[in-house]
Amino acid sequence: MTEFEKYLQGFVETYYENASETDKETLLNRIVCDAGNKRYVVQEGRRRMADGDEKGDKIYDLSELRDFPDIDSEEFKSNCLDTNSPEHKACEAEIKDLVAWFTSNDSKAAADLKALLAHSEIEYRVRKNWTVPNGSCAFQKGENGTPDKIVICISDLKRLKKEGVLSEINEDALPQILAHELGHAVEFGKRPKEWQTKYMDGAETAADLYASSLLFNCGISERGFSQYMGMDYDKKKEKGEDTRMPYTPDGGFRRDNFIKSEEAMRRAKINELRGLAPARRQPLRENGNPETMRGRQQSIIGNAIDAKIHNR
Ligand SMILES: [Zn+2]
Repeated sequence: MTEFEKYLQGFVETYYENASETDKETLLNRIVCDAGNKRYVVQEGRRRMADGDEKGDKIYDLSELRDFPDIDSEEFKSNCLDTNSPEHKACEAEIKDLVAWFTSNDSKAAADLKALLAHSEIEYRVRKNWTVPNGSCAFQKGENGTPDKIVICISDLKRLKKEGVLSEINEDALPQILAHELGHAVEFGKRPKEWQTKYMDGAETAADLYASSLLFNCGISERGFSQYMGMDYDKKKEKGEDTRMPYTPDGGFRRDNFIKSEEAMRRAKINELRGLAPARRQPLRENGNPETMRGRQQSIIGNAIDAKIHNR
């Protein structure tokens, strides 16, 4: 295992502190051993599709993948909804509402996102020219006390819904795409300097697993986008098409991550409620009394009720 893989595993592990050791091992190993049908290899500065069973290079340099978007450039602007348009403002309001929801519980995933946002400038953009549900996250580390800069782009999902690209079961893809992209930002924010420009498929799995924990802890369905990816994968497979993705594990593998993670967290929660596992370590409340199991149960029930209200 490379040092970078170890780092990514360590990043994810903190969000599954209540999961059983077996579940943790299953999930963390997915960061290292991905679908095994590697997509591209980088050779002499160019990328090409890996042949047959050949595994692609495990670690790329970020500069080979994409540049930090120049959000003031005309080209970038022309690919996004006009930020003054009502369409953009509606999407942005929905995104901000979700981010507020993501950070309004006491989970580790929520706390880390909150901490990142407290010292970041974050911009949201809606991409007009993406024809499938997708997202991207660009991250620029602040230096000498300046805030980190984050630019998150999301497909125009409202339009894609209208056009029927998203079917009924996966039409609420926004929470999951957003949580995944914020997962990249949280992960980048924590990176030691030596990994600052590194990238591998495992970073995608790590962002998915972070997203899964973030969503689970606020009771939002996490199946929207992963079901889309899975269905897309199934369709390609059925037609005998290439299911490999550039730089990210294939959709089937990613759907599986979400399912496995959700199951692991559900098991952990059930054990916690039964008193079989210690309640998550909570900071003391203002009155200084440690949390009781009964209080914990109440707050879980409260979260579940709130989640129902929030789900549209
Ligand atoms: Zn990603």
